[in-house]
Amino acid sequence: MDLSALEIIHYPHPTLRHTSRPIQRVDDELRDIIRHMFPLMYEARGVGLAANQIDLPLRVFITNLEVEPEEGEERVFINPVISQTKGIIEQEEGCLSIPGVLGPVVRQEKITVEAYDLTGEAFCSEVEGLFARGVQHEVDHLDGKLFIDRLAPGQAAELREALEEFEIDYRSKRECGEMPSDEAVAARLAELEKLRA
Ligand code: ZN
Repeated sequence: MDLSALEIIHYPHPTLRHTSRPIQRVDDELRDIIRHMFPLMYEARGVGLAANQIDLPLRVFITNLEVEPEEGEERVFINPVISQTKGIIEQEEGCLSIPGVLGPVVRQEKITVEAYDLTGEAFCSEVEGLFARGVQHEVDHLDGKLFIDRLAPGQAAELREALEEFEIDYRSKRECGEMPSDEAVAARLAELEKLRA
């Protein structure tokens, strides 16, 4: 896999709708992929990035709430599972795969997340606020869900036009061969899953 070619894909790329299967082993290849995710996230000025967003069917996401490589804490969540939740809160949310589009999303205020780190060790974190929101947003990505799926109907209608622009852009790129067909995307994901099974 050419890791230098990895880039963030945009709505409505079909990999964003893929449910990624749990990772079977934490090895050097996986660590390399994850290492390449951080610069992509910083370049896009994001606080979180899921593997689905770089067109890979892996159950892993990264975070750094400070948006800067030299600041904050870089976190890696492999096979994350949200186990406990408390309270709900609505806040504006965006996504690196739908740049420029924002909408209010209701999330759990406090959560407990269990996952594995880069060494393959299991850990458990209790998080709240922006961190909790980010974790829920990224776990959604691994299940093929986007924040726009969680908008109230009125708010979704407001964003419809902006999303249609992304759809038109994607279709035209696919028609002129800049983007693979949906079948080709599905075949590639299946092949990558087989390689890491
Ligand atoms: Zn996102």
